[in-house]
Amino acid sequence: MKIICIGRNYIDHAKELNNPVPEKPVFFMKPSTALLMPHNPFYYPDFTSELHYEAEIVLKVCRNGRSISQKFAPDYYQEITVGIDFTARDLQDECKKKGLPWEIAKAFDASAPVGRFVDKSRFDDLSRLNFGLKINDEWKQKGNSSDMIFSFDNIIAYVSRFVTLRQGDLIFTGTPAGVGPTKIGDHFELFLEEEKLLSFYVK
Ligand code: MG
Repeated sequence: MKIICIGRNYIDHAKELNNPVPEKPVFFMKPSTALLMPHNPFYYPDFTSELHYEAEIVLKVCRNGRSISQKFAPDYYQEITVGIDFTARDLQDECKKKGLPWEIAKAFDASAPVGRFVDKSRFDDLSRLNFGLKINDEWKQKGNSSDMIFSFDNIIAYVSRFVTLRQGDLIFTGTPAGVGPTKIGDHFELFLEEEKLLSFYVK
């Protein structure tokens, strides 16, 4: 399986990092070794001193497909959750400055903790989903899928023009404003609507 991540999908987050608001989805990938399953601790990597959290809604692809039209995109995901797109911001800034790829900043081991998946049918309107991140009991990020520049279906249609989607692939759909640094000892709790779907400690 692979993990596809959308960058700059919320205007307020693109602005906080001084990035232009994109006209097409920006995506990058993390390998399967980036996945951190629920109930596992996250270990602060030794190669960064500026590790940022990015809380995001995550879709699980439920069937194989390529060049999927937007109209049929909802058939390609049944379960959703929340996750963190961990980013070594210091390394990413260096890569960006040199025009180099971002992998060392984004694709490292355990850089993609994901929560327990829930069936999308339990939500009335996927285009108005609240989600959020608390660290040490304090709200750090709150988002709503209605603020996305590119919708879930839009993302699936766009990405599948270039990359075949396979059952079990995950799609991180972008982070709202409020990203920031983390440190050893932090307690992360992620919510989709009222429900806590992921919690872990940084060790
Ligand atoms: Mg992200």
